[in-house]
Amino acid sequence: MALRHLERHRTDRIGWLRAAVLGANDGIVSTASLVLGVAAANASHGNVMIAGIAGLVAGAMSMAAGEYVSVRSQADSEQAALNLERKELETDDAGEHRELTAIYVERGLAPALAKQVAEQLMAHDALGAHARDELGISATLSARPIQAALTSAASFAIGAALPLAAVAMASESGLIPVVSASSLVFLAILGGLAARVGGANVTTGAMRVTFWGALAMALTAGVGTLFGTVA
Ligand SMILES: [Zn+2]
Repeated sequence: MALRHLERHRTDRIGWLRAAVLGANDGIVSTASLVLGVAAANASHGNVMIAGIAGLVAGAMSMAAGEYVSVRSQADSEQAALNLERKELETDDAGEHRELTAIYVERGLAPALAKQVAEQLMAHDALGAHARDELGISATLSARPIQAALTSAASFAIGAALPLAAVAMASESGLIPVVSASSLVFLAILGGLAARVGGANVTTGAMRVTFWGALAMALTAGVGTLFGTVA
């Protein structure tokens, strides 16, 4: 029991860390790309900074809203499925026993044993057994939409602050090389960190994140150069 408790907490922590690293990653890529795009269109240092700050706020709010809506709608649909299941258990007990038995047979139990497992689990906690094994909802899963929204917004803002700090420190002429180089370094570190937390290869993780970041920055800077020449 204690071991299961510990394990669940570890996966919770990894999920949380993963979300934070992904948020910071988004913050770096989108803000660095935005800043480079505006700078490539020959904007002044001050205007590049304003665009970057606006991008930080817009991105953080968009992450918060997206995360809140996603967690809430997931919780709503799980609740609706549980309500339906509860009603089915009240009205069709025999049918629900057959349903759960069939699920265990499909997973490899002999029919007689599957029937016995279904009976014992349903005698213990019928709704819990159906939630887990039929709907795939873990009973302990409690969605925290506000917390998820704040975590996403904060991690995005922290990521976005890195290229903005580079903008603040760079001269107008050195802005593009300084922002792109420092952002790629931040991305490589973050990608490596994320891979390490998840137990994956650090070099592969760092290279993957850096590649997509470089692509995003190059494309936005290209568009900025194009429109900067036209305007
Ligand atoms: Zn059921």
